[in-house]
Amino acid sequence: MTEKVNLLDLVPDEAERRLREFAVAHGEAAYRGAQVARRLWTNPAPTFERMSELPRAFRELLADHFSLPRLEAVARQRSADGTEKFLFRLPDGEAIESVAIPEGSRTTLCISSQAGCALQCAFCATGRMGFARNLAVWEIAGQVREMRLLDPPIAITNIVFMGMGEPMMNWKAVDPVLTILNASNGMGIGARHITVSTVGVLPGIEALAARPEQFRLAISIHAPSDALRRELMPINVKYPLAEVIEAARAFDRRVTFEYVLLGGVNDAVEHALQLGRLAKDCGAFVNLIPLHPGGALEFKPSTPERTVAFARELRRAGVEVAIRKSRGVDIAAACGQLRVERLGRRPPRRPDQDGHIQVA
Ligand code: SAH
Repeated sequence: MTEKVNLLDLVPDEAERRLREFAVAHGEAAYRGAQVARRLWTNPAPTFERMSELPRAFRELLADHFSLPRLEAVARQRSADGTEKFLFRLPDGEAIESVAIPEGSRTTLCISSQAGCALQCAFCATGRMGFARNLAVWEIAGQVREMRLLDPPIAITNIVFMGMGEPMMNWKAVDPVLTILNASNGMGIGARHITVSTVGVLPGIEALAARPEQFRLAISIHAPSDALRRELMPINVKYPLAEVIEAARAFDRRVTFEYVLLGGVNDAVEHALQLGRLAKDCGAFVNLIPLHPGGALEFKPSTPERTVAFARELRRAGVEVAIRKSRGVDIAAACGQLRVERLGRRPPRRPDQDGHIQVA
């Protein structure tokens, strides 16, 4: 018996094409292809068995030839502010996190693209657990699918690739995932509501820029000079700030800079002035993020006064800025924290062992 085709690893058009051919080859009407394809993402079914609109024999036939794997939720925590955090176990025992963040009429799902991360940013919990592996297409898009399969489902309106891992180092999978999330025969989430966040992996930024859809780009800047950025983010050696800023300028849509405020480290007025020049230079919007405690004990969050003063300097420089609220602090809902709590840390590996860049 040949291995079953995992329908959730395919972009919707391709899945639909194969299902149509399969249906016809087995004496079913061609429209069955689109009918089954709709049950992958748009109106997902947990199993073929549960696609009750199909003849039973055809459902059994589908189950013999195709697979529809699930992510197993091993923990679900709800914060007082409504944020919900999920820990999913993967078939090989790895674990990843997703966080659903409600805000007014929107609910943003923060998804993971890798199990662990090779980049070792100094303040990040995921970096401390080291890199395990890239996630497969279905494991990334599946995080969103699982929200639709909950009872009651969580209606996700926005996606951010700000969970575990560096999406641009798994572009081979992230590229088709973007198609699945956006396609009308996939999850149907508008491209402007999908944000890919990166430390500044240049080939990945170029690949995202080359896509015709209006996907959004966020860049984790965190320091306005190479000297400081190198200390906080080792990747700055490979992709220095000036090149990252250049890539942001070349990106034809508006870019967001992410800037985690670390008390006494990167939150002085001088840093704000430098950051203001960089942001102005490429028309970037700046998100000031309070440090989530638990990422790294050697850092402390900026005081509210510092935070406000920092934002004021940026505004004075003509830069649009938002001060983000820390969400889900009581459930350790920052990058990698739940997994670290539950499963312990693994010894960190060096980034150069695993930090291969995969661009389609
Ligand atoms: N690797 C990508 C996406 C994952 S991290 C990236 O770095 O952009 C998503 C965001 O969370 C990044 O901006 C990251 O720097 C930030 N982050 C990591 N640890 C944090 C912490 N302890 N507190 C606040 N933000 C954190």
